[in-house]
Formats: sequence, C-alpha cells, structure tokens
Amino acid sequence: MDRSLRGSGHLLSSMVTDAKRMGPLVSLLLSILLICVTPLTAQEALRARPIPLPPPVVPPNILLILADDLGYGDLGSYGATKQDTPRLDELAAGGARFTDFYMSAPVCSPSRASILTGCYHKRVGVNNVLWPVSVAGLDPDEITIAEVLQTRGYATRYYGKWHVGDQKAFLPVHQGFDSFHGIPYSHDMRSLVRLKKEKEKLSPLHLRVLPLVRDDKVEGLIRDVSPLMTAYQEETIAFMTQCASEGRPFFVEIAHHAVHLPNEPEAAFLGKSNNGRYGDWVEQMDASTGHLIDALYALGIEKNTLIIFTSDNGPSKRGGGSAGPLRGFKHSTWEGGLRVPFIVWWPGRIPPGQVRRELGASPDILPTLASISGATLSEPWDIDGVDLSPLFLAAESDTAPPVPPRNRFVYYDAKRLMAVREGPWKLHLKTPEDRKNVLYNLEEDIGETTDIADRHPEIVAALLDVAEATRQELGDGRQNGFGERKEGRVSRLSPLFKAVSHPKEGSDDAR
Ligand code: MG
Repeated sequence: MDRSLRGSGHLLSSMVTDAKRMGPLVSLLLSILLICVTPLTAQEALRARPIPLPPPVVPPNILLILADDLGYGDLGSYGATKQDTPRLDELAAGGARFTDFYMSAPVCSPSRASILTGCYHKRVGVNNVLWPVSVAGLDPDEITIAEVLQTRGYATRYYGKWHVGDQKAFLPVHQGFDSFHGIPYSHDMRSLVRLKKEKEKLSPLHLRVLPLVRDDKVEGLIRDVSPLMTAYQEETIAFMTQCASEGRPFFVEIAHHAVHLPNEPEAAFLGKSNNGRYGDWVEQMDASTGHLIDALYALGIEKNTLIIFTSDNGPSKRGGGSAGPLRGFKHSTWEGGLRVPFIVWWPGRIPPGQVRRELGASPDILPTLASISGATLSEPWDIDGVDLSPLFLAAESDTAPPVPPRNRFVYYDAKRLMAVREGPWKLHLKTPEDRKNVLYNLEEDIGETTDIADRHPEIVAALLDVAEATRQELGDGRQNGFGERKEGRVSRLSPLFKAVSHPKEGSDDAR
C-alpha cells in the first residue's frame, strides 16, 4: 500500500518541501536541523531553541465539487463534444487536470466513503451501495476530511447527496460537517408515502418522495429534485460570503446528485446541449460551478481558494454519459468504471495549464487537503492516500519533475479484488468475460484491447505478488484482511420519515 504523511513525518516532510522552495542553502541548513531535532521529543525540541518554525500557513478555502456518475469523457477538457462545459474547462486550463485519477469503487457509496476517509473503501467497510433505512453506514469513528480540516479552524458544510448512511448517527453533522443540506442517498431511491385521504377521492393518494434533510432533521419530503442544484449553489455563496467577512477558512463539499439517472435538470437548461437531458444537466452543473467561481472573484478570495472537481464513478451505460477512450462503464472495473476527471484549481498557487499524467486516487484527497491546509495527521491511523500536492504545486521554474507520490492502484468491485495497476501495467485478476489473468499497458492501450500477459510473464508475476499482498491487508471476497475496519452499524433502525415502503436493493422501487 502507498503510505505517507503520518504524524510528525508529514510535518517534517512539509518543512523540507518548504525549504526546497526557499533555495538550496536554506534547504541544507534546515535538513541539518531536522536531523538534529528528529530524535528529540517535542518538549525537548522546544527547550533546544532556537529552532526555526515552519513558515506560517494561511489555510486556503476549499471547495470540493463532486459530480455523480459523470464520465471520463464528459467535459470539454477531457474531449467531450456533445455538451459544452466552458466553466469547468476554465478550471482545467487555469489549474491542473489529471489523466489517471481513480475512484476507489465503480459505484456511489464506497467511493464517497473513500473520499471522506483517505482510504480504499475496503479498509473502512463501506463496500456496497447503501439503500434507504440501512443499518450500516460510514463509522462515525473514522476520521473524515472535514474533521481533519476542523483542526485548522475551518468552517465546514456539506451540500448535496450524502450516501454513506441515512441513520442519524451517520449523517454529515456527525462526521465533521458543521451543517448539512441535501438528500441522504440517490434520487432514484424514492420512497412511497400516502397522503391524507382527500374527500373527493375514493382511494388514498400515493406519491414517491425523497427526504430533504437539514443537519439531521427532515426539512420536507420532495418529489422534484430539479431546484436543488441552484439551492446548493446559493447556500454555498451565502456561506462563502459569511466566512469571507469573518476571515475564517471554509471547506464546502458540494456533492451533486447530478448526473445520476434519472436525468432531471432544471427546466431552463432543457434542450441546451446536443446530448439530451444528460448533456443538459452537465451544462447546468457547469453553469452552477461558474456561479461559484464568479462569487469567489466578487468576494476577492479567489487567490486563497482551492477548487477540486471530480466524479464519484464512471458513467451509467444507460445514462448518456461517455467514458471517452476508456473501456466499460459504472459498475465495472474496466477503466471506464473508476477513472474519472479530476481538476484542481488555485489561482496564483497552482501553475495553470497542467496535464498531470501521474497516478492519483480518491484516498489521496484527504492527505492532499491536510497537507495544503497545514493539518497534521495523527497516529496511529492507517490510511491509503498520499499527498498529491507536490505534483500540482510545483513551481514553473522547477526543472526536475516531482517524484510521483503514487505508483499503484488496486481495483475492488465491492469486496472482490479485481485488478491491480503499477505504473502503466494493469493486471486483471478476473474479468466479466473470463477468470484468467489479463495484462494491459495502459499508456499504450488505454482502451484495454490487447492482452499481453503472455509476452510479460515477469510483470504478471510481480503484479500477482502485489495482489496477494493486497489480499492479505484488505481482503478479497470472503477472505478478510488484517487492515480492514468495520463499517458503522446501528443497533436499532430509525427511518428518517414514515413511508408506506422504502426501496430495497433488487426491487423495482428505485428507477
Ligand atoms: Mg455515482
């Protein structure tokens, strides 16, 4: 497993990184000092003054915008032609976009758990899509991004689709977010409710609805989700305005239910794209992101705000999305299921126009934001993420390319280990078609078309070793791994609201 950024090691490495930016002489002096102070306890080190403190870090504001089921090929900057995404393309052009960024899973709940915790979903036990009134959720004892950033004084908000547990104990306000406004799971999981019998009708009126939750209480039951994107956008702008006036850093995660099926954009966007309602909805999300960017400039805080834009998994086969040159869709561990757009933007700090071809993955978001905010990760705490910020924060004048922080990614479909990647090599351990090992060089064959396992037995053997080590640590199917932690579970189910029926996995209740 890739690991880095643990406790004091992270702080020390940050100091070294900062020193490198200052120049070789300062770097040398600080390196000598670090060698001298490393064996000391913190108190001993303080007594042994003078010790130069690291430069003060002004924590940047952070907007993490997560699309739902948006494909690798659905943005202009990633090759889309059926819909226009000028504002998201503006972020890519003004910052860095990654070509090889993966979500932990090809479906919603596990990938969201991974983003929040800095772990593969398999480590934190959220392995499957969670359905309404589920006994399971992300364990509140897991440390989330929001909790890490709270240690640096951030005000935190979550707007949108949560989907890592709909019992009160699992909701965002119990996972590090000061406030939450949104829906607890996918908008295709509408429950059946019965309205009061109307006098003029002979039978009760039934409706399919979603709970709109404020913090941990149901604010109302809604049928129409199309106003939500604008509502999240307006609340985010109001919150950013408030934080800017108070001089307090903020972290907002906006997790859109768009563009997951069924496609339900606002009426004003219908017919705008050349890709039906799907493309219309992508364009609405693009416009909404544009309003947030404009607000940052209007508030004068754009140079102290980092935006990340990504998607929780690949496109649905039925939805109108595109995985571009990648094979497969959501639900599969072909590249199209997990490889997603990933854009980082921070004017004045991230040199513009970067196309990063190094590996990155959803567990990396937490340690990357921790590093950027100046937060120190505490020990003991096993995570799978690495800090990607040295890649995209590198100064344009730096001649040496940064060392890739991640060289490996492992592909899980729910609990099953399906494939491993190291450098350009991806070995499928099982595929939908057969159960033999299949090897691709993704740099030469991005579409996974030609199995070259027979030509590279030594690479197959090395990747099988990686797979076995992964199995030992994170498990595979019924085999448990020593590094796995359990999902959260409640002893007594308490639905957020009363319904005639809630949709269940495998039922026709969800569209
Ligand atoms: Mg999704």
